[in-house]
Amino acid sequence: MKKLSAIVSDFDDTIFFNKKALIHAAKDLYDNLIKSKDTSQDYKLLSDLEITMEEGKVAKGFNKKWKTDLYTLAYVKYCEELYPNKPLINYLNECVKQGSELIILSARGEEFRKETEELLNAYNLNYKLVILPKNHELKDEEWKLLEIKKLSDKYNHLSLFEDKEENIRYILNNLDINNIECYLVNHSFITKM
Ligand SMILES: [Mg+2]
Repeated sequence: MKKLSAIVSDFDDTIFFNKKALIHAAKDLYDNLIKSKDTSQDYKLLSDLEITMEEGKVAKGFNKKWKTDLYTLAYVKYCEELYPNKPLINYLNECVKQGSELIILSARGEEFRKETEELLNAYNLNYKLVILPKNHELKDEEWKLLEIKKLSDKYNHLSLFEDKEENIRYILNNLDINNIECYLVNHSFITKM
């Protein structure tokens, strides 16, 4: 029998803001690259790191080889710089009290399960399950779509919370179910899409 309803929430920049952690991580990588005096320096990588240092976000097409290093620094070394979206956390916990199950759906990767669950526990999020990809073969939105399809078989109703509008659009355009509501999260502002 299907369960009643689930709240499915993204992690980074939805429940926890990672801007400061990414800025620190990018600075570390940038400094190391400059110090290494590598003659084959990748100038696109350096200018992408400058974007992250200034804006706290990862540039599109960021070098795959260095992506893991950047995220590992941000999510492990600088995990204390991630700060919580408290209004959303309170709202999600309230939904759990009302009977929904909370599922965290994050493209971070299985390699960051420990750090991810530690943060969720530190802020008393009453989650049922954390779903992370085992590899990064699919684009984030493609992987999320597949996982949401699986969840829609298990639950009568899903509410998705996500900070990336393009991910929500991709999911809504490719999902042939009507038991889902999607919400765009921008700090404490939540907009139904
Ligand atoms: Mg996000």
